[in-house]
Amino acid sequence: MKADRLIISGDLHADPAVRERFSRDMSAYRIVPALVVEPRDEEDVIRTLRFARNEGHSIVSRSGGSDLSGASIGPGIVLNFKRYLNRLVSVGEESVVEPGMILDHFVKKITEHGLMLPAVPSSSAICALGGNVGTRSTGPRTAKYGTLDAFVASLRFITAGGEVVDTAERLPDHLAAGLKKIRERYLSDAESRAIMDRRPFVAGGYNLKALARYTDMRELATHLLIGSVGTLGIVTQIRLKLIRKQTIHGILVAHFRDYGGLTEGAVRLKALNPAALEYSDASCSERVEGKILNLEDPDIVGTLVAEFDGSAEQGREAGKVIEGLGVSRMWNISPGSPEEAALWNDRRRIQMSLLKYCRENNLLLIPVIDDLAVHLKDIGSILQEIEELMQRLNLEVSFYGHPGFGSIHARPYFNPADESIRNQIETVSRETFKILQKYAGTLVGEHNAGRSRSIYLEEELGPAFSYMREIKNLFDPDDLLNPGVLFDTEPICTNMDFSIR
Ligand SMILES: Cc1cc2nc3c(=O)[nH]c(=O)nc-3n(C[C@H](O)[C@H](O)[C@H](O)COP(=O)(O)OP(=O)(O)OC[C@H]3O[C@@H](n4cnc5c(N)ncnc54)[C@H](O)[C@@H]3O)c2cc1C
Repeated sequence: MKADRLIISGDLHADPAVRERFSRDMSAYRIVPALVVEPRDEEDVIRTLRFARNEGHSIVSRSGGSDLSGASIGPGIVLNFKRYLNRLVSVGEESVVEPGMILDHFVKKITEHGLMLPAVPSSSAICALGGNVGTRSTGPRTAKYGTLDAFVASLRFITAGGEVVDTAERLPDHLAAGLKKIRERYLSDAESRAIMDRRPFVAGGYNLKALARYTDMRELATHLLIGSVGTLGIVTQIRLKLIRKQTIHGILVAHFRDYGGLTEGAVRLKALNPAALEYSDASCSERVEGKILNLEDPDIVGTLVAEFDGSAEQGREAGKVIEGLGVSRMWNISPGSPEEAALWNDRRRIQMSLLKYCRENNLLLIPVIDDLAVHLKDIGSILQEIEELMQRLNLEVSFYGHPGFGSIHARPYFNPADESIRNQIETVSRETFKILQKYAGTLVGEHNAGRSRSIYLEEELGPAFSYMREIKNLFDPDDLLNPGVLFDTEPICTNMDFSIR
């Protein structure tokens, strides 16, 4: 690559050590990029796009790099926003931020103003706003307040053709006209709309439901860009609408002995409109070695945590509605107490604790079925079927997630010394897809599309998938932006690295 032809005010890295650093995200994939670019401004992004097009390279936008499915790595140019484009432009109920700002830093600033962004992922210490938009991120309070999509007012982005677009102002004519056409076709296609409407709340892929929802093409473009995993445009500024910080009135923790009780308990608690409704199984409790999620009761299938910010009455009611559902123990935690902080600290550390356990035992926690989106009423049946699948394959598995919005993280442990590891990964993915099909669930959930998740998306969506292709062709006809993560993915194990790190 003739990198010296790319003149920008930011940084260019062609040396192997830096490229190696950007060859991974938090998935099991490793793809060494040809070049890493750290833009200082939009002009740098435009120049990089032009250069990539001339040199025949693809572009991957990257903010925090915490993606779990290889969506923030690629063989072409990695555009790293974390280095320079990381400023808070303005703060208030409407806040404007650049994509590279680490989410925790943003949360700290808005908290000082008594404001809150409810969709804060457990990875907030390492992820950044650009990736949050790229994946349409969630947090425990998505249960009541929705995904990040509900809090984005508008976006500034660069198109694959190098145009600067601010969706608060206007769309280029070709995008507005193209979206109108796609929208009209979608509105008259009852079959595809029904397929999309059947999907669970946090199902990933392009947000086709936005085609039915928004009549203003600028708004439609905003909500298609959110969750498009860097395949439709490069986001350079995010305008967020925030809410006032809410007071927590009650927290209930309950351990369940069987999946039937757990599912019914989750359905009844959800009916009380909790701010958060979280789940983790006994293996998570054990491995987190925390202060709250440390129950060593081998007979439970899992723990539900429900947090209420509506009234104290909700918390009192919560204990009553789950009585008699196979609860082995339940108790309340006082809002603002050290136990509350310890509880959320334990919850945030689950994934890292499982990773630590695997590292110590020469195992790999490869994200394969880590991001399932399901309907709440099916949660127990799906967990049970996956558990049986793992028993047949002789794989240990941990489960945790957010029943409050139908999200399950299923984390099988793989042995890299086992020669059949590739076969196991393929089987786990395919067989779980089959299980989910029975329940109208999907492998592409709150963390959105990626190299390990999108392989069955076309099969899952049938005719509705054609709208995703049309939208992609409209925004990026030459497939310059992040190819291989949503469309035409390679077999799941391609580029996976099985070394223990
Ligand atoms: C321990 C752990 C816990 C997690 N918990 C959660 C959770 O609770 N909820 C949740 O939703 N996710 C969670 N995740 C997944 C991940 O952290 C989120 O998806 C997060 O939003 C990704 O942000 P990032 O900045 O790291 O994105 P990156 O990895 O940098 O990118 C993610 C995607 O966004 C695209 N993108 C990045 N920047 C831009 C840009 N400027 N323009 C256009 N596209 C862009 C990338 O191309 C990529 O496709 C977790 C991950 C880990 C490792």
